[in-house]
Amino acid sequence: MQANGIDSSTGFLDRGSCLELVGRLASGAVASSQLLAALWIDLSRLKQVNESFGHLGGDMVITQIARRLREKSAGRGEWCRMGGDEFVCLIPNSDAEHARQLAQDLLQAIEAPLRFGELFLHPSASIGIAILEGDEDPFAFLERADRAMSTAKRQGGGRAVASGDEPMPGRLGILLAREELTIENKLHLALENGGLSLHYQPIIGFDGRVEAVEALMRCTIDDELIPPARFIPVAEKTGLIIRLGEWSLLAGARYARHLDDAGHRTKVAINVSRAQLTSPQFAQALHGALLCANVSPELIELELTESLFMDISETVQANLHAAKRAGVGLAIDDFGTGYSCLANLKDIPATKLKLDRAFVIVLPHDRRAFAVVKAMTQLGRELGMIVVAEGVEDQAQLDALREAGVDAIQGYIHAHPMPEEALLDWFQQRNAS
Ligand code: C2E
Ligand code: CA
Ligand code: CA
Repeated sequence: MQANGIDSSTGFLDRGSCLELVGRLASGAVASSQLLAALWIDLSRLKQVNESFGHLGGDMVITQIARRLREKSAGRGEWCRMGGDEFVCLIPNSDAEHARQLAQDLLQAIEAPLRFGELFLHPSASIGIAILEGDEDPFAFLERADRAMSTAKRQGGGRAVASGDEPMPGRLGILLAREELTIENKLHLALENGGLSLHYQPIIGFDGRVEAVEALMRCTIDDELIPPARFIPVAEKTGLIIRLGEWSLLAGARYARHLDDAGHRTKVAINVSRAQLTSPQFAQALHGALLCANVSPELIELELTESLFMDISETVQANLHAAKRAGVGLAIDDFGTGYSCLANLKDIPATKLKLDRAFVIVLPHDRRAFAVVKAMTQLGRELGMIVVAEGVEDQAQLDALREAGVDAIQGYIHAHPMPEEALLDWFQQRNAS
């Protein structure tokens, strides 16, 4: 609540008054060649107090902390509440050393336990410090304090960071951030202008049948092919993977139908990322794709990376079972890369286990790796799953995998991933020979 530019819980100036004041103090400082410091303070865990004790509880905490701040600064500085749990103190005539010392004192005052009914709260805060530079724009000055506060928070809170002391992103960091932005832009373009496609790689059983084909996403912009190893991590970071994933679900399902119509009834395996499977909308997207493509669900298999099964949330469980009920198959991808909790494995309704390429690369010479592959294969089969090895490139690897009891092989030894039309030709040639 505010009246006359004053925040009623704290008696501090409100945000609007603060912005006015900083302009005046900055002009004054420049005119008299004096210093001006700003401390930007962000309290931690106030959200928790609000959630546990309601907003009245939160207000009580704010009021008490504000009192401590005022006492500690002993009349030096103008206090403002920027909203929520953020405060600014503007201190004329304060140099960096003084501001730093005051910030430490304020942190100490804030951190004293605070009695709340029967409980003791342990408040903490992050503080950013800025000193006005020449005739700097007053808002830019405040923003520097705010940014320094964010750095203090990122470093774990309970500390003060001065603007200018923040670690500068290195040249490499800037280049990487730029590259990510470029890829993100290209992905948006690809989604809107049809720059995405799926390539398909056959998975072939030791019995000679095509067990499935895996759909692998490709992104082409201005004739430049961006490999998945570059765009998938960016898509995951930015959340775009949900849209890309929905696109590949639909495109893969349509192609499964197309293959079936062309007389090559084969499962299409589609990669699903963690972000998709942890989303409550996943089941709906899957149903939508199956319906739109008008494909029978047993022709679709979802590949889920092993890391998903580290801890299975209720949403993931519900999505897995919804997929199962819809009639699509589930495969555990990249198995053996180190994330799986074996205890979880028994609860996952998957029908296929894909051994990661890392195990295959060292075959057949590494006998210990061979023992591991054999044991994993047995485990998969005991759990009623088909076991596939990925990334098989030569005959010696293939022979070792046959000996280990693996059911099917995916890799360059049989075929590289190929565009839709090429896969149809591949099927035709295979049937002809
Ligand atoms: P993944 O799911 O493990 O896919 C297998 C990767 O191994 C593919 O790489 C495939 O081209 C490659 N590969 C197959 N056989 C061989 C071989 O004999 N030797 C070697 N060296 N490599 C082989 P790709 O197409 O570059 O895809 C990389 C990854 O990108 C995939 O790994 C998958 O994690 C991800 N990805 C691809 N498409 C999608 C998608 O639609 N959605 C999601 N979420 N991820 C995707
Ligand atoms: Ca895969
Ligand atoms: Ca894989």
